[in-house]
Amino acid sequence: MKNIAVIGAGTMGNGIAHTFAQFDYKVHLIDVSDAALKKGLATITKNLDRMVAKEKITEVEKTATLMNITSFTEISEGVKNVDLVIEAATENAVLKSKIFKELDEVCDAETILATNTSSISITQIAAVTKRPEKVIGMHFMNPVPIMKLVEIIRGYNTTDEVMQFTVELSKKIGKTPVEVNDYPGFVANRILMPMINESIETLYNSVAGVAEIDTVMKLGMAHPMGPLQLADFIGLDVCLSILNVMYDGFKNPKYAPCPLLVNMVMAGKLGVKSGEGFYDYTDSRKAEKVAQMFNS
Ligand code: NAD
Repeated sequence: MKNIAVIGAGTMGNGIAHTFAQFDYKVHLIDVSDAALKKGLATITKNLDRMVAKEKITEVEKTATLMNITSFTEISEGVKNVDLVIEAATENAVLKSKIFKELDEVCDAETILATNTSSISITQIAAVTKRPEKVIGMHFMNPVPIMKLVEIIRGYNTTDEVMQFTVELSKKIGKTPVEVNDYPGFVANRILMPMINESIETLYNSVAGVAEIDTVMKLGMAHPMGPLQLADFIGLDVCLSILNVMYDGFKNPKYAPCPLLVNMVMAGKLGVKSGEGFYDYTDSRKAEKVAQMFNS
């Protein structure tokens, strides 16, 4: 297995493509937007340059990694002759269903279809295909080239064989896979999101300010980053959508998103990507400093 396709060249898609290409897989990077492909490839180049500067890889390895990536704007073209597709398009259940229907029609019968969704049910996505036994969750963490964990999510119909294949593949690209079952939030977000939501609730109740809450969690719990800053990095819209999936999925009020989070998303304060969330990222030097901290 040496050929894979990655759908979506955004934050996660370019990280997944980078990682597989660095381990010498031939990667077809697919995005509907030509601008997103260009931006994704520029990000991969910048991240490889950073690795060369830190002497983690050589200039030759950087060139070889970039040579392993080919970009496409059409799914039907990009998935030709691939053994695995990893979908990392925008987090939207309707969009993912549309993509998986198309993948099922255009991919070889043996091709395994994985999704990097943070919260949408793997079983629900698999149900739109005629190969639900070959559909699986591969939940990478951001930034993908650095973070070791891959949550491997078994859909209701996923076979042991597909599970085993995905676990072994994750190890081959230097990751540590953890097998989990398909319930809302899986494991990572089921535990992380309530903590982030509670930290927003703590701010909303005026128990303490943004910096104070983050400092308590950084210095008191040895977290590398405070929960409010982490929420800014993940994207406040993404946090809200994951909490809503858990709230709807479990019908349990403990997952109800804090009204402050809902208001901030409605006001367009989405965190790093919009320039402002709990912190201000409009000063580009400050933003670069924070980005370096996140990528170190
Ligand atoms: P993003 O917005 O950065 O990128 C999404 C990309 O998908 C965009 O470039 C967009 O043009 C492309 N796209 C949209 N529709 C498409 C289509 N029909 N075909 C091909 N490409 C299409 O999003 P992201 O943060 O990279 O998230 C991608 C997925 O990864 C989501 O499911 C998200 O939940 C999941 N995820 C995100 C994070 C994170 O920290 N950002 C972490 C883990 C998992």
